[in-house]
Amino acid sequence: MPALAEFADIVKRNEPLAPYTHLRLGGPAELLVQPRTREELSAVVRQCFQEHLPLRVLGSGCNLLVRDEGVPGVVLRLSEPAFTQISVEGKLVRAATGASVSALISHAARHGLAGLETLVGIPGTVGGALRCNAGDRGGDIGQFVRHVEVLDSKGNVVVRDRDELRFGDRASNLDDPVLLAVEFALEPESPDAIVKRMRKAWILRKAAQPLSFQLAGRLFKNPRGLNAATLIEQAGLVKTKVGGAEISDRDANYVLVRPGATSRDVLRLIDLVRTRVQERFNVELEREITVW
Ligand SMILES: Cc1cc2nc3c(=O)[nH]c(=O)nc-3n(C[C@H](O)[C@H](O)[C@H](O)COP(=O)(O)OP(=O)(O)OC[C@H]3O[C@@H](n4cnc5c(N)ncnc54)[C@H](O)[C@@H]3O)c2cc1C
Repeated sequence: MPALAEFADIVKRNEPLAPYTHLRLGGPAELLVQPRTREELSAVVRQCFQEHLPLRVLGSGCNLLVRDEGVPGVVLRLSEPAFTQISVEGKLVRAATGASVSALISHAARHGLAGLETLVGIPGTVGGALRCNAGDRGGDIGQFVRHVEVLDSKGNVVVRDRDELRFGDRASNLDDPVLLAVEFALEPESPDAIVKRMRKAWILRKAAQPLSFQLAGRLFKNPRGLNAATLIEQAGLVKTKVGGAEISDRDANYVLVRPGATSRDVLRLIDLVRTRVQERFNVELEREITVW
């Protein structure tokens, strides 16, 4: 019997993943699963555990490079309504992790709850943003989190409270197999004032990220006290190409993906940049983009 045979309604076999990712690269998922309810999701996770099937969760694929050979096992997509709900109670906003960060921000703003608006313009889902503590110098998502509901590898719901959560520079300790939902504590403020700040943050972000509308991905975390783009530039790597992958001349920490590029091109370019920066400055660049 094929794996997950009893979940045929929600499973796509050998499903190309490129269309689900920002860079539009990479091979298929052996099994792409889109559960409709929490119960269905728990049952799938439990079965993966019992059958030793690798399990990954796909958000919007904005921080993801899928290898050309594809991904073995199960890729979960939490796109059904049960996983995209957002609700407000007093100062608390609760969001399921499949919701988009933009929907979360506008929901909070409409209810006169401030804090998250500095994240405006960061693409992706709430789950992806929590995992990597999305943000920038203006703030990050982690600072507003009260608790996170997760599924453990056996499909049980576990609540991670604030005091056990660690949010760092584009990183968190939320390494549970599935992040389900999160509760944020925000501050009341007039919706007009929030929207005004949101517009300002949007303009600043667009100016800082001129590549938002191209097939471009951010490659490395900034090493402590340093800037990855500056190191790459000073190593003379701007516009360096491997196949269809090229280091951007507008922000050297972004790879541009040209027609015909493969994931292998991007991975080889990443290796080349790391090696050159290490040789030149003795600094080890840590990848920001997740590779599957
Ligand atoms: C143009 C552009 C601009 C960007 N600007 C910024 C920026 O300013 N600041 C910033 O921080 N980031 C930025 N990013 C990166 C990206 O937007 C964030 O990392 C985003 O949070 C990724 O969310 P996602 O839903 O696309 O996650 P994906 O890329 O789909 O996944 C990323 C990781 O999160 C995991 N994951 C996702 N959802 C779940 C879940 N529910 N449970 C468990 N694991 C999960 C995945 O398994 C994977 O390991 C930018 C990206 C682009 C393309």
